Amino acid sequence: MSVPRLEIETGRIERNARHLVAVLGKRGISVTGVTKAGLGSAEVAGAMLRGGVTGLGDSRIENIEALQRSGVTASITLVRSPMLSQVDRVVRHAGASLNTEMDVIEALSVAARSAGSMHGIVLMVELGDLREGILPADVAGIAHRLRALPNIEFVGIGTNLACRSGIAPDSKNMAALSALANALEAAFACTLAIVSGGNSANLLWALGESTPERINDLRLGESILLGREPLHRTVVPGLRTDAFRLVGEVIESKIKGSVPVGTIAQTAFGEPCKASDQGEVAQSLLALGRQDIDHQGLIAPPGIRVIDATSDHLIVTSARCLRIGSEITFELEYGALLRAMTSPFVDKVFIGDRGVNS
Ligand SMILES: *Cc1c(COP(=O)(O)O)cnc(C)c1O
Repeated sequence: MSVPRLEIETGRIERNARHLVAVLGKRGISVTGVTKAGLGSAEVAGAMLRGGVTGLGDSRIENIEALQRSGVTASITLVRSPMLSQVDRVVRHAGASLNTEMDVIEALSVAARSAGSMHGIVLMVELGDLREGILPADVAGIAHRLRALPNIEFVGIGTNLACRSGIAPDSKNMAALSALANALEAAFACTLAIVSGGNSANLLWALGESTPERINDLRLGESILLGREPLHRTVVPGLRTDAFRLVGEVIESKIKGSVPVGTIAQTAFGEPCKASDQGEVAQSLLALGRQDIDHQGLIAPPGIRVIDATSDHLIVTSARCLRIGSEITFELEYGALLRAMTSPFVDKVFIGDRGVNS
């Protein structure tokens, strides 16, 4: 098999999805499986769907189009506000999108009308994380205007926390979203199909003591794929963290000093060199670099430590010298997974289901 490669156990993705669908289902919350880290892979999306997610979400129209080209028929929501320059593609390929700008919603309406289709709109609400979202006081006004547009359906509201500022979903901000849902339904005598509370960062709240009130959907990517919640990167009970493994190959292995010799200037990436004196160490280079991975998000096997990375080299130390040509297998955090999945130099190898305990 070629190296570097990402080995993807679709059975584990499926079982992670199934577990989350079951525990959240008990609380009246359905799961939208977010596929963006899978880069439009039908295998990843298929595993989520077999696990029981109600629909799919992706942030890139290119991924959504790729999923459809490979035969995925589930409804897919674009989870980033559409670019004005892409509204025609969005209404053709995404059943709904998350929105915050009236200009965009109007353009979606025009595009959907000429495509002869309906497009669902979820209005995103700003609840403190300061990424996307309409200020709560402005939501009703925008909802009122969009309800008058042709070929557009107001399907619900949502919010996104934690990603930009690390704001934790809690009973306060979730209650604010529920209250807004109630107020909009009362004002417009309508029913909101979707009240989407957020992403994997919502799991601690959703599986904790508080009641979900009106929240009936979560958009989950990282937890299904990597088994962790992103607030503290703890493992979600019942989930596996090893659905993805990155395999790299050793191309140099030598005993070297741990402190560089000479006058120190900038490194390739403009960061200060952070070497600390450990005496002589067994240092190995793997043919993997920042073009392929985020080295800070690699979880090395026992006995091996990731020290640094340049464009094309991953630098590790270990108790003993690693054999040239040997393969080293890492688990990944979300950022490293995104980068590895996106690198054309990393081969993607899908490993089908090997049974319940694999
Ligand atoms: C990526 C994304 C998600 C999924 O986030 P995870 O932390 O991977 O669960 C949900 N919602 C939006 C808007 C996103 O961009």
